[in-house]
Formats: sequence, structure tokens, C-alpha cells
Amino acid sequence: MTTFLGMPTASPTVHLRTGESFPDAARTGLADSQQRHNLRVATTTIREKRAGVVAELDDWEQLRAAGAAIKDATLAELPDHLERFEAAVTERGGTVHWARDGDEANAIVTRLIQATGETDVVKVKSMATEEIGLNEALATAGITATETDLAELIVQLGDDRPSHILVPAIHRNRSEIRDIFRDHMDDVDPGLTNDPEALAGAARLYLRRRFLSAKVAISGANFGVAETGTLCVLESEGNGRMCLTLPRTLITVMGIEKLVPTWRDLEVFLQLLPRSSTGERMNPYTSMWTGATEGQDFHVVLLDNGRTATLADPHGRSALRCIRCSACLNVCPVYERAGGHAYGSVYPGPIGAVLSPQLTGVKDNPSLPFASSLCGACYDVCPVAIDIPTMLVHLRAEVVAAKREEHRVPTAEAASMTAAAWTMTSRRRWTAALRSLSLGRVARRMPALPPPLSSWARSRDLPQMPRETLRDWWVREGSDVPPAAPEEDA
Ligand code: SF4
Repeated sequence: MTTFLGMPTASPTVHLRTGESFPDAARTGLADSQQRHNLRVATTTIREKRAGVVAELDDWEQLRAAGAAIKDATLAELPDHLERFEAAVTERGGTVHWARDGDEANAIVTRLIQATGETDVVKVKSMATEEIGLNEALATAGITATETDLAELIVQLGDDRPSHILVPAIHRNRSEIRDIFRDHMDDVDPGLTNDPEALAGAARLYLRRRFLSAKVAISGANFGVAETGTLCVLESEGNGRMCLTLPRTLITVMGIEKLVPTWRDLEVFLQLLPRSSTGERMNPYTSMWTGATEGQDFHVVLLDNGRTATLADPHGRSALRCIRCSACLNVCPVYERAGGHAYGSVYPGPIGAVLSPQLTGVKDNPSLPFASSLCGACYDVCPVAIDIPTMLVHLRAEVVAAKREEHRVPTAEAASMTAAAWTMTSRRRWTAALRSLSLGRVARRMPALPPPLSSWARSRDLPQMPRETLRDWWVREGSDVPPAAPEEDA
């Protein structure tokens, strides 16, 4: 059977964008000093743990290269691997569903749950279901989905949004979590303290009741193995294992890029992922399941939602290598200060700045490619060597091209870049421009620059301009041979 994947893009209801641009949303994050403190403490701790366990491996760079190569090879033949995966799952009693976008995936999952007659389901933390806004879609259909990952539960009870891929409640400290539990958990001890053990105990009691009564569970998947149809979830609390084994119906929603061809390939990722994400040599719980187990109804929803369109972009497709470890978030100076909500997407930080616009198209997410200092720290830590800075530059160029198409009259930015290019391609013009830089000294003394320079200078200090150019200094110092310069353009 031939499966036509087409070129679907993300549906408009997905959680990959908000109406607010990154600079506007980042202003709110920057003003929240408590959040900045929480983020600094959390990311510093994870960063140090990660650096320690990575340094233990002599072959870390080879592992990274292997991870990147396996992902690239898989993506190059993705339709074949997907069909092998579908055949293997079906052979073992599971059912595979194909979803072009988030709306289709939500409709499939809703229909499957309605067929069971249940209205309460439990969920293992899953980025794919966050991406498509599954909980909201289920709520509209009268189905309550309870998150069972502790951090996701905190976010859900607090009516909040996740702000980190791995630690969705990273922006909350222990006292805030205690208040959320006290306000929103039924039967919670009113004297609950902010002691981590007490908080974990309260969550355990709350979740246990749901685990034992739920007949339907929804999971994501970190990896799918094409040769056997096996799915794999890595987690730290054991909640995943409870969800995957107790309920009678299990529905897994997985992005199509999560496949690896063989079991042997998993070996590489099971070393790369825990070290990069939680800074552990091995993650505490690795659950794998192949097809339906006896008495269980098992479904996989394969989600495209912009992934095929991303795959078609030769500059952007390496974003699909991402294994959602979050190492790039923990080293990013922009993420640490602005916080995850500023990105307006379930994928924050450096990978969000490339993945979200790739999935939705840059016209829908034009500010995210600029949410970076391009320092390169994200590339250095990425376990599958995604060159995020280069991709950001590529996406910036796409945003500029899209704007050019949209505006017949050049924007102020486009006009100033054209003027800069015209100046720099001629030695005579460049020398004249340098001489006029003394004007910059005047500009520094002005209380505010006029538009359009005012928007550039709003968040930057104007550099101190030199009193004279190097050439003028050279001549003044008595040499009649000025330093070499490129030939003037014709
Ligand atoms: S881009 Fe790389 S570092 Fe960032 S989450 Fe993905 S795999 Fe991890």
C-alpha cells in the first residue's frame, strides 16, 4: 500500500504561535524578577549536571555524529520507514491512524475515546499532544484529561502554560507549587508545606486515584522503531509506566519524525537523551511496547502537522532531528532571561525559534528567528548537532523575503540595508561614510534618535564612534602609504 503524505502544514488551532510577537512577550518575562531567579537557579543546576556526565564519555562527539547521521538517514527515507512501522504495528494487533494536522489528530483521538464511553482519561507528558492542543479539544467534547507528569500537573492545575520542554513548570518555585496544590487539589492537607517530599506525596495521592480508575490513557513517544513497530517513552517518575500498563485503551500520538529504523539505533539515543536532558547517565524509567498486549486496545496516531513541509526545506529539515532534550534551552542566555512563555509556542528556546516557524511557515511566526543572540551555545550542546544559529539566519532571510513580498514600499530596515550594501561596495563611498562617523558622536549626545533609528536604539547602546579613521590616523602619523584596502568596485 502506498501512503501519500502530501505537504500539510500546521493547523491554525495548534499551540505553535500566539498573537503577540517575541519582543512584546519577552518584555513581560523580563519584568518578572521571580521568574528570572527561578530560571537562573534551575538552568544553572541542569547545565552543570549535564556538563559533568557528558565529560565522562570519551566518545561523546562520535555519539553526537552518530545520532545526527541516523536521524538524517531516516528522514531521507521517511515514507518507507513509516510504512514499515505501520505494517509492524498492524501485524501485532495495533491500529495506525494518519493525521495531516492537529485538527485531524484531535478528531481521531476524541472519536476513539468516545467509542469507549469514557469521559476521564490519564495522560503521559507528550509534546505532540501539547502542540496540537489535545486537552482543550477533548474538554470541548466533554472529556477530562489529567496530566500525570508532576510538572505538567502543576501547569494544568495552575491553569498555566508550559515554559520548558523538559520541566514545564520551571518558572515556578516550591512555594508557588504548594499554593497551587492547596487551591486546586481535592482532599489536600491544608497544612501542606513546600518541602519537596511533602509536595511529591500530595501529587502521588492525587494521581493514584486517577491511575486506578482510568480506562483510557494517552501517551506521546520519544521514539518509534520501524522494524518492529515498538514505541518507547522515557520518563523519570514512573507515571508513564502506570499509564501504559493499567488502562484498557492506549492511544499514542507521535510526530512522524520520531522514527528510527532499527533497535540498534536506539542504543545511540538512549545514551544521548538522558545525559543531555536531565544530566543523568540513564533515565529512571524506559518503557517500550510493541503492538497490543492481551486485552488492551492499542492505537497510534501519526502526526504530520507541518513536518512534511519542514522536510521539504533543505536548509530547515535538520530541525526534525530534534529529540526534545532541552539542552539548548538550558544554555541559551535569551531563554534564561525572557522565559519560555515569551516564545508563544510549546517549543520555547533555541529549538522553538527554528521549529515553530518551520512548522507554521515564517509568515505566521516572523519574530521567533530573531529571538537569539546567535552565540552558538545551543549548537555546542545539541546531542544531534543541529546547527541552530545557521538555521536562524536562514529563517531571518526568509522573513525578510516574505516582508519584501508583502510590502510594495521597502520597509525602513530593508531601505537601510540596501543603503549599507551600496556604501560598503565602494571604497570611496565607504571612506566618506567613515569620515562622517563623527556625526555619531553628536548622535550619542541626543536624548532620543529620530525614527527609524529610534526602534534600533530602544534596546541598544549606541557605540562610541572614533574621532578619526585608521586611514586618516595613518596619514597623520607621517606615512604616505595607507594600509591596503580592497579595490574600488567598478
Ligand atoms: S535542538 Fe538539540 S539541544 Fe535543543 S532540544 Fe532538540 S535535540 Fe535537544
